[in-house]
Amino acid sequence: MFGMRWSKYFIPTLREDPADAEVVSHKLLLRAGVVRQLSAGIYSYLPLGQRIASKVMQILREEMNRIGGQEFYLPALHPAEVWQESGRWNAIGDDMFRLKDRKGADMCLGMTHEEVFTTIARNEIRSYKQLPQVWYQIQIKFRDEPRPKSGLMRLRTFIMKDAYTFDVDRAGLDHAFIDQREAYKRIFTRCGIDFSIVEASSGAMGGSESSEFVGKTDAGEDLIASCSNCGYAANVEKATSRLPKIEDEAGPDAPEEFPTPGVRTIEDLTTFPGGAAAIRQIKSLVYFATLNGEPRPVLALLRGDHQLHEVKFADSLGATDFRPAHPEEIRELLGAGAGSLGGVRAKETSKQATTGAKLTEAATGRVLNIKYPKGVFIVADLGLKGRRNMTTGANKDDHHIRGVDVERDIEVDQWADLRTVNSGEACPRCDTGTLEVYKAMEVGHIFKLGTKYSESMGATVLTADGKEVPIVMGSYGIGVERIISAAVEQNYDDDGIIWPKSIAPFDVIVTVTNMKDEKLREAGEKLYEDLTRAGLDVLLDDRDERAGVKFKDADLIGIPFRITIGKKLGDGVVELLDRKTKKSEDVKLDDIVGKLKEI
Ligand code: ATP
Ligand code: MG
Repeated sequence: MFGMRWSKYFIPTLREDPADAEVVSHKLLLRAGVVRQLSAGIYSYLPLGQRIASKVMQILREEMNRIGGQEFYLPALHPAEVWQESGRWNAIGDDMFRLKDRKGADMCLGMTHEEVFTTIARNEIRSYKQLPQVWYQIQIKFRDEPRPKSGLMRLRTFIMKDAYTFDVDRAGLDHAFIDQREAYKRIFTRCGIDFSIVEASSGAMGGSESSEFVGKTDAGEDLIASCSNCGYAANVEKATSRLPKIEDEAGPDAPEEFPTPGVRTIEDLTTFPGGAAAIRQIKSLVYFATLNGEPRPVLALLRGDHQLHEVKFADSLGATDFRPAHPEEIRELLGAGAGSLGGVRAKETSKQATTGAKLTEAATGRVLNIKYPKGVFIVADLGLKGRRNMTTGANKDDHHIRGVDVERDIEVDQWADLRTVNSGEACPRCDTGTLEVYKAMEVGHIFKLGTKYSESMGATVLTADGKEVPIVMGSYGIGVERIISAAVEQNYDDDGIIWPKSIAPFDVIVTVTNMKDEKLREAGEKLYEDLTRAGLDVLLDDRDERAGVKFKDADLIGIPFRITIGKKLGDGVVELLDRKTKKSEDVKLDDIVGKLKEI
């Protein structure tokens, strides 16, 4: 129950699209007077925005409380120590806002709160009898994102609902995870978001199992591969597909070098006489990466027509830092240009190289000197397993090698799934489905952390048999602004936003077509009172504006229902317009309150 008169309420709507706004939600949130930008990735909520965010937060609270969540509120300013204890002070790079206090002590602005919650658990929880615990907060986060953009989708300061569970064992965590997952489904459903649950890479948060909740939208930055047949869905950072089996002809007993003047790309070699189709070639890419703390050159091998996915590459190697090698470094390492590389004898060749390279560790800014005594580390995509009679670069300009049996001729250190999946490929889980790859926005993420933080930070409990064990944790996050952005991206038309009813700033707008008409004005005022008293959130458009302007503004700000008080009032009738369907009907003034309470 909340009422406002537009004449006194601050809703600075804009007629034109703001020039620098690209995605729809960004444009509409600005035009509808919901938010204003202060700086890159930093926004102010105006009154409409604050109402929308409050409604989202109320849903988050209700659903967290329903699964036994207890609300906390932790500080946003953290001492470096807790992040040093968990190891993330160094593991996280420039995304963290760091500062010093007046005494020179290192501090940071919280990106997330595993460390602080674990500190509380460590100090207060001693026994299995105090577990399980489900803790959450709705609080501000800071992340110095490299590319803050797309309005509220990628911010540098945003509101997150973050929850953490503490259990004595894995079984407890599994249970907590399912509770959260179900709560998340209810939250997104209630907020009117069309979402999917997908397998994800856990990234810097650590942990083993994680699921992302994503909303399908072209404005999204994530790519999701999903199967409409069996429901398999995964972020392409993790998704796989089933490749049709390829029967290779047995090749020669040993690989053969042959001249390929001018051939630089996979494509070049497909048309070169004596060359090979892309699926019979090996693509070779050189990176520098830190593997187990040691900077190494890495040669990644894939089938000629496949694309490397860098997140899969880094995840499979456990690489904390990596970058592609520069052309001169590649030549120094393997003795040829990027268009003539291959895995055959690559280890020996690269051990001869002397100069070395440098890798700047993103996390610390430390410059690591890479030497090559061990040569390249070779990681090969699983799609190359068992392949024979393949063609690849010879590590010699203008020369290639054919007849390569991958397992016989290349010293592969690690086999891994490195390949980017594409639409139309076969589902890895079911027999008949094919994958569709679409753009989506991550709106929530749930992780089984396990004992990563409890071990590093020493949060232990005594079990029933008196054994001391690390607490088993989970962490679960939802971005309030992501929900708001997704709601807009999925619900708008040419005229503006169409808020899902559950998070709309008002349930209904009462538009008086002509405030100078005494009768209309009085009827508007009375209806406004009646609707508010009936428990609805009501915006009365009592501005001294033309009806056309008022209608346009009402459409733009997206209130689910509009009641127009105009000429038909003489017959005791008002018009009820559904913002979404644009259908309107005449309703008797006496019936309108009852009717709205129903819908
Ligand atoms: P992304 O991959 O999009 O950067 P993330 O994996 O870093 O997201 P988490 O650390 O899992 O995100 O944070 C939990 C939730 O917080 C995300 O699911 C998202 O809803 C929200 N979120 C994360 N980063 C931002 C941001 N920069 N701006 C707005 N919301 C964010
Ligand atoms: Mg992120």
